[in-house]
Amino acid sequence: MNSRKKLLTVLGATGSIGVSTLDVVARHPERYGIFALTAHRQVDKLFEQCRACRPAYAVVDQPADAQRLQALLDGVGCCTEVLAGPEALAAVSAAPEVDMVMAAIVGAAGLVPTLAAARAGKRILLANKEALVMSGALFMQEVAASGAELLPIDSEHNAIFQTLPAGFERGLQGSGVTRILLTASGGPFRSMPLASLSSVTPEMAVAHPNWVMGRKISVDSATMMNKGLEVIEAHWLFGAPAEQIEVVIHPQSVIHSMVAYEDGSVLAQLGNPDMRTPIAHAMAFPERIGAGVRPLDFFELGQLSFERPDLDRFPCLALAYRALKQGGIAPAVLNAANEVAVACFLEGKLRFDRIGTVVEACLNVIPGQTVESLEGVFEADRKARVVAASQVEAFVR
Ligand code: NAD
Ligand code: MG
Repeated sequence: MNSRKKLLTVLGATGSIGVSTLDVVARHPERYGIFALTAHRQVDKLFEQCRACRPAYAVVDQPADAQRLQALLDGVGCCTEVLAGPEALAAVSAAPEVDMVMAAIVGAAGLVPTLAAARAGKRILLANKEALVMSGALFMQEVAASGAELLPIDSEHNAIFQTLPAGFERGLQGSGVTRILLTASGGPFRSMPLASLSSVTPEMAVAHPNWVMGRKISVDSATMMNKGLEVIEAHWLFGAPAEQIEVVIHPQSVIHSMVAYEDGSVLAQLGNPDMRTPIAHAMAFPERIGAGVRPLDFFELGQLSFERPDLDRFPCLALAYRALKQGGIAPAVLNAANEVAVACFLEGKLRFDRIGTVVEACLNVIPGQTVESLEGVFEADRKARVVAASQVEAFVR
């Protein structure tokens, strides 16, 4: 082990992944320290986290929140400096003191600071799949150019990373790998009668059977858009074509994903569903450290089962494959339209079964285009948000 403590910036520290990350860090104070913690609006929660971790910096979105947090921290003699806004997020991701950046902001808002970490050549612990979905080619180019280390936190991609052949970099060709099998729980509505999907409430959708997660990803899991985004994420991370990425429903969420090889072998990574496993794995890689996760008990488990996904029930999964095959700006359009539709659903403005309808309309209406630059990605993101909002309005009227 390297004797110097590794310093982390945790983007999205107050979220579900952020909290799990701080839990793993707290178990290994001799190995890890915190350089910066960030949050959008949750000042009180961030205050408690700063008090416990004593980072050099804390970042929030609004200057008024920054002032309030600074006053709270000064009041308890904590010398954390509080900053505000997107530039500050990028600065604490790229700072020379930082060894690793946990990218755990939800949605498109995570792209710029995660890219800043990539450009600065950091070890990136990537939870924010939306960043890679939006700008896959550009993002991977930045990682290659700077020599940054990109380690997946998404449990499926972390499992794939663990089960790929030693020395694997990107591209399945010549690796002996024939397929990547992404497992999915199928979410809370896997066996609900199709006709009832129209009356699903936000409370029902965020109650995931196996994982405790943020609200947006919980809804994405219920529509299986989450799995669709993960197919695109796997494409970019591992250089796998869409045809070689297969989704397998596995309701127990114990096998986190699998890799099939030419000789008939299938390697899987298993564990109790607890995000501290992939977080600890990526933080310590290539070493292994404790994560506080309950060991898997096969006798208690009894049975593991598998199903083929039903694309009539989960149209978002098919839309993600379509966007991946279409390429160019399509994945960015898919992602932005989905963010808008999910936010409207959570606000009670859109029916659950219309999330996919809104996303599909955006893919149909916005002309395809290649991606030349980050500006092109943001332009597609903006357009898709406008079209998606008007689609939602059309349903309200
Ligand atoms: P969450 O909603 O619990 O937390 C999101 C964090 O991002 C919070 O700290 C919030 O303050 C911050 N944030 C939100 N909007 C922001 C903005 N506009 N600017 C700056 N900060 C902002 O979400 P989560 O479940 O922790 O998920 C985070 C990311 O990790 C998502 O991309 C999700 O897809 C991915 N992920 C999560 C899990 C999980 O188990 N929770 C698993 C795999 C991948
Ligand atoms: Mg996942």
